[in-house]
Amino acid sequence: MGFIILGAAVGLTAIVGLIGWRWARAASDLRRGLEELRRNARSQFVRGGPGGSIGRLVETYNLAATEIEARISRLERDRQQLLVVLEAMAEAVIAVDARHRLLFANAGAHRLFGLHPSSVGRMVPELIRSPRVQEAVEATLRLRGSQSYRSELQMTGRDSSIRGPGPTSERHLAVRGTPLPGHPPSGAVLVFHDVTDLRRLERMRQDFVANASHELKTPLASIKAYTETLLDWALHDDSVNVRFLERIDEQAERLNQLILDLLSLARLESGQGVFDHQPIDLSPVLESCIESHRDRASAKNLQLSFDVSGLPDGTLVVADEEAIRQVADNLIDNAIKYTHEQGSVHVRCTLESDEVIIEVTDTGIGIPREDLPRIFERFYRVDKARSRELGGTGLGLSIVKHIVLSIGGSIDVSSRPGTGSRFTITLPPFRPPSIASPPSGSNHPNSSTETESRGPGETHAKLTQSS
Ligand code: ADP
Repeated sequence: MGFIILGAAVGLTAIVGLIGWRWARAASDLRRGLEELRRNARSQFVRGGPGGSIGRLVETYNLAATEIEARISRLERDRQQLLVVLEAMAEAVIAVDARHRLLFANAGAHRLFGLHPSSVGRMVPELIRSPRVQEAVEATLRLRGSQSYRSELQMTGRDSSIRGPGPTSERHLAVRGTPLPGHPPSGAVLVFHDVTDLRRLERMRQDFVANASHELKTPLASIKAYTETLLDWALHDDSVNVRFLERIDEQAERLNQLILDLLSLARLESGQGVFDHQPIDLSPVLESCIESHRDRASAKNLQLSFDVSGLPDGTLVVADEEAIRQVADNLIDNAIKYTHEQGSVHVRCTLESDEVIIEVTDTGIGIPREDLPRIFERFYRVDKARSRELGGTGLGLSIVKHIVLSIGGSIDVSSRPGTGSRFTITLPPFRPPSIASPPSGSNHPNSSTETESRGPGETHAKLTQSS
């Protein structure tokens, strides 16, 4: 009997021990699972424990852990997507906390303000030394609810890490600030959009309209004045009437030329298919241009010469004949216009280092160093009065620039005041389709100008197409 009781007691103890061991194992597995979830946001499956309440706890844990892991990975995926979006934005985005500490800066902000990943956590006024940016941050932190802050600020080259054309160049930034949730806000998000190019284009458009109106008004005012004088008293005065009518004719011709140049420039800039570029031989085109200027050159006692000996027979370029004619006409016309009597104008066409070169050289008045980089701008003239008197519209070189860049060439000018100027056009020679890359054909090129000094008094500016 005693043995039976002892046996039962040992058996019970063994069962209780086993159950206790399984509970302890389940509890330890649960603890490890929770630890893994806390540390690595990963669920760890816990083997079914004993039945009863511990068993149900293990089951609930397994379900909850799988769901939490899925939710966390969804959140992480969303966060990564948001980061990609923020990094891909051209705008600069920064987030700051209520104490002006940087919480986040995207790649655009790194570029604009010279920030880097280690800037996070540092004070924004130390990182971005611009009072206007601090103003924007403070104003946004004062906002409530769904309000937002908008402003446009100017930064000099010193304030931003982006450099414009000059060391003191200004950048225009449109800024929008949004407060982070909280009363007062727990921080602010600021988005900076660089509108420098937009503002520059707006200014160019305004200048263009002002210049064009002025240029149109001047001959019109002359025409009106002469016509009124004729109507008042001069019509039957034979000593002046013919002269006045000639002046009216001259001014009408100037208006006509101006409108033709404006239309030509507008078509070139709009990228409309103005020209049909085909492989052509330059010699006959240039020769006929020169012949059409011969009388004007002779009237000024200028020597006008042409040399194509350096251009091997059969060399072709891809360009519209009319385009080449307009380019050569403008350059030869200027060379004759700005060269004194007895001077000379020389046109040369050669093939050098696998490039076709057209040079128009004169012994004229030359162009001062400071004006050289600007002479290709619309309406820019070194001497307005002289150009107008000589019948210039101030658009010729602008048209030349557009045409040359649109056929994949570049234009170069070197000049020395009082000695003369040389305009050099470089064009790629035509290659059969298997070797040649097609001409860009773009009529809306971005161009860049480089200026350099070449010997005493001579300056040089080169215009090429930039991407
Ligand atoms: P314009 O109709 O006034 O000649 P362009 O656009 O053809 O206008 O030229 C712009 C300016 O560049 C001219 O006003 C002139 O001051 C200067 N320029 C152009 N070509 C020459 C040249 N060969 N010699 C001296 N100055 C020139």
